[in-house]
Amino acid sequence: MNNNPIRSKDRFLVFAAPAIEDAEIEEVVSTMKTGWLGTGPKVMSFENEFKAYKGSQYAIAVNSCTAALHLSILAAGLQPGDEVITTPMTFCATVNSIVHAGATPVLADVDPVTMNIDPAQVEAKITPKTKAILPVHFAGRPCDMDALCEIARRYSLKLIEDCAHAIETEYKGRKAGTFGDFGCFSFYVTKNLTTGEGGMILVGRQADADRLKILALHGMSKDAWKRFGDSGYKHYQVVEIGFKYNMMDLQAAIGIHQMKRVAPYWKRREQIWQRYNEAFADLPITLPANPEPDTIHAYHLYTILVDEAKAGISRDEFLNAMYAENIGVGVHYISMPEHPIYKQMFGWQPEDYPNARYIGLHTISLPISAKLTDADVEDVIAAVKKCLALGQTKSVVLAAAAA
Ligand SMILES: *Cc1c(COP(=O)(O)O)cnc(C)c1O
Repeated sequence: MNNNPIRSKDRFLVFAAPAIEDAEIEEVVSTMKTGWLGTGPKVMSFENEFKAYKGSQYAIAVNSCTAALHLSILAAGLQPGDEVITTPMTFCATVNSIVHAGATPVLADVDPVTMNIDPAQVEAKITPKTKAILPVHFAGRPCDMDALCEIARRYSLKLIEDCAHAIETEYKGRKAGTFGDFGCFSFYVTKNLTTGEGGMILVGRQADADRLKILALHGMSKDAWKRFGDSGYKHYQVVEIGFKYNMMDLQAAIGIHQMKRVAPYWKRREQIWQRYNEAFADLPITLPANPEPDTIHAYHLYTILVDEAKAGISRDEFLNAMYAENIGVGVHYISMPEHPIYKQMFGWQPEDYPNARYIGLHTISLPISAKLTDADVEDVIAAVKKCLALGQTKSVVLAAAAA
């Protein structure tokens, strides 16, 4: 067997590297030259462009999706002791934001194929304390929004969408983040659209938009935002205990140019997704489910499942073998109940969420950034095949030893 890695060390393929082009770089530099680094006109343009793209009434830019989720739960009027039902197959920020807001997270297991929260499991977890549902459009695949909206309506629950993977996601012609009371987005470096760090909240009601703006800026009355201008001195009043979650113009300078490339970047990721599907069709691994009809998948993550029983190599061995080939890969995600703090605080047991647990123990995310060249994609494919061949050799050796 050939022991040379697929890629040389100096060409390590960084997982989820952002695609940054000259327009962003020039805009950041010119923003710095204006001297207006903080919240200002660029944040306002970015909000306007984002809400126009999404067809939403209001957009509030913040400094992360974690902040967006935290403020949304507060603005939804949740009180300590209120329960929020969410998914065990997510990033810890989803659960943490519920805790930050003083509410109690409750998990409902995912569907094993879509990896999205299962509406039947959600309904089974509803108690008199349940006040909100917080679904995550996992990997960019829309959740079953007909079912979730219907449950929210029937039980009078708030619906807060975690759209960190779901910029381009659509369900039956409607864009993710506009179904619920609040739609929360992330512009972290690894996401489909980046501002380095950043987030956005979409809402349909002006009262929610006003409250979110106050909460995002120290609890200062909404006119305080006018301080970020040159139309004379403005006194401000603090009307509640808020947070420091506002986005900077420096970040928005990146976002307004990234916005323009949402469609071509999506198209590129779709191409990579299809190339992987074709290249891996006969391998002993589970590929991500095809997008459902009448939906748009955002292709944020390409997640395969590697089960040692079939592949002859364990997930963790596979992860290390890919690194040895100089290909950066990810795990999205170890299921939430596996983390010690949640076990300790909420008594969660991984076995109680068997679908999320299985995914968490077997999943690997392959690079699918729009930045990848065709040669990068072929390197990933060659590395996956090489790592699996290792597994097949191992199985043959083990079978021979057992015989
Ligand atoms: C990235 C991510 C977040 C957090 O986003 P930040 O902008 O980094 O705070 C929340 N939920 C999910 C599902 C994510 O992937």
